[in-house]
Amino acid sequence: MKCFYCKGDMEESTTSHAVTLEDCVVIVKDVPCTRCRQCGEAYFSDKIADELDRIVDSFRKSKTEIAVVHYASART
Ligand SMILES: [Zn+2]
Repeated sequence: MKCFYCKGDMEESTTSHAVTLEDCVVIVKDVPCTRCRQCGEAYFSDKIADELDRIVDSFRKSKTEIAVVHYASART
C-alpha cells in the first residue's frame, strides 16, 4: 500500500485520534494505524475506523468535556 497523498511507503504504527463533538472532545490514544514514512499521514483500516466510530459515539451523550481513552481498553 502506498500513501494516497505522496505515494510514500507505509509502515505499521499507532497514532492518537481526536474527534470534536458538539460539546465534547474525544481523544483516543494508541490507535493502530498505517502511517506514511514520508508525510506522516495515518490511515485506519475499516475495522479500526468502525471501532473508533463506536468509541466516539459512546461519548456523544456523556457530559464529559474532554475524554481521553486508550484504544485497547475502550474497544470491545
Ligand atoms: Zn505520504
